[in-house]
Amino acid sequence: MVAEENRLLQIRSDRAKFTANFTMLVVGSGGILSFGLIPLAGTGINRHIKRQKQVEADLVNSEKKLKLWVDELEERNNEISQLAELSDVLQACFTLEEAYIALPELVSPLFPNTSGGVFLISESKTLVEPVATWKDDYAYLNLFTPTECWALRRGRPYFLKDSQSPLHCQHLHPPLKGQTLCVPMMAQGEALGILQLIAFETGQLTSTKQLLANTVAEYIAITLANLKLRETLKNQSIRDPLTSLFNRRYMEESLEREVKRAERKEQSLGLIMLDVDHFKRFNDTYGHVAGDIVLRELGQLFKSMIRGSDIACRYGGEEFMLLLPEASLQITQLRAEQIRIGAKHLNLQHHRQPLGAVSLSLGVASFPRHGNTTETLIRAADAALTLAKATGRDLVAVAE
Ligand code: GH3
Ligand code: MG
Ligand code: MG
Repeated sequence: MVAEENRLLQIRSDRAKFTANFTMLVVGSGGILSFGLIPLAGTGINRHIKRQKQVEADLVNSEKKLKLWVDELEERNNEISQLAELSDVLQACFTLEEAYIALPELVSPLFPNTSGGVFLISESKTLVEPVATWKDDYAYLNLFTPTECWALRRGRPYFLKDSQSPLHCQHLHPPLKGQTLCVPMMAQGEALGILQLIAFETGQLTSTKQLLANTVAEYIAITLANLKLRETLKNQSIRDPLTSLFNRRYMEESLEREVKRAERKEQSLGLIMLDVDHFKRFNDTYGHVAGDIVLRELGQLFKSMIRGSDIACRYGGEEFMLLLPEASLQITQLRAEQIRIGAKHLNLQHHRQPLGAVSLSLGVASFPRHGNTTETLIRAADAALTLAKATGRDLVAVAE
């Protein structure tokens, strides 16, 4: 760049010298010299004119080159600030969902005339799923298996200059056009997924853009790996590993919050405490592993029978607690009855061998009728559960 600028200066200086010499030649002759009268001087002038034209052409070329470089420099500058923005926003994300929403806005300006997506490998490692996509050409943005992507297979970027080539990734379905680039997103030596870019026209994914895509993929990978880790740690601290329901600590915190909310909104709040009947006997008959299967299946059943905003937790051992914000006593009692029946109809199996049926005893309490603090409500639901056990098990009792 500096060399080119020096060259420009040289050209400009040559042109100035030429103009000065020419003026001197004409003016110095008293203005009466004609080119035809002095052939020797005419040849010199022709040479000078030729050289002048050459100098002019060189100048135009150099200016064009310089303009290209300036444009390129401006583009690099833009990319650097967009990249800084991407990194800033991603670092500020608290959850994976937040990052997924931000990605299209952050990545697409870096690659104009290019559609794209961020794809993540599922927990089971069998699928690659889109979590964020941008621009409207989504024909290629589907679910696929890791083996269908050359970039994932080889563990390095895969650029296809001509997407008509038969060597395109299998997850990019014909008819293809333009160019495609898949960049694996690596974190701690493991592929999390890919950054996929599809240029509508050839020439868009230059080598500079490919390098940029590598950097972007690195940023995304680090962010998503950190957020995943954060979510895993959070889940471990609030969930029971066997049933994946919330744990007792989380339930107690939630109950406190929900009681306050119900108080403020003057709404009711339902509480169901339930216990598996004669579970010890079940363990003794079928073994602890089978017992664990029952607890896991029950967890699934509870989750499927309550609303998304309700909270199901494993209170301890074979005891569970369900919180139903905004539910009346009547609705809570009805839900408890449905769960009791649902549990009796579970088709439990271990090693393809059917296990015996299980039954539940359930105690129901409601805010504000049976208490207005976490302690009084839990106590009321517990007392109702004891009553259900005492009355014969496999039934629902309401707190008094
Ligand atoms: P009841 O109808 O009075 O509730 O009788 P029960 O046998 O269910 O009650 P008890 O309190 O006597 O026994 C509870 C059993 O639950 C004993 C314990 O081994 C079993 N249990 C608790 N946690 C787990 C677990 O995580 N896995 C398995 N398999 N069993 C568990
Ligand atoms: Mg029990
Ligand atoms: Mg018990």
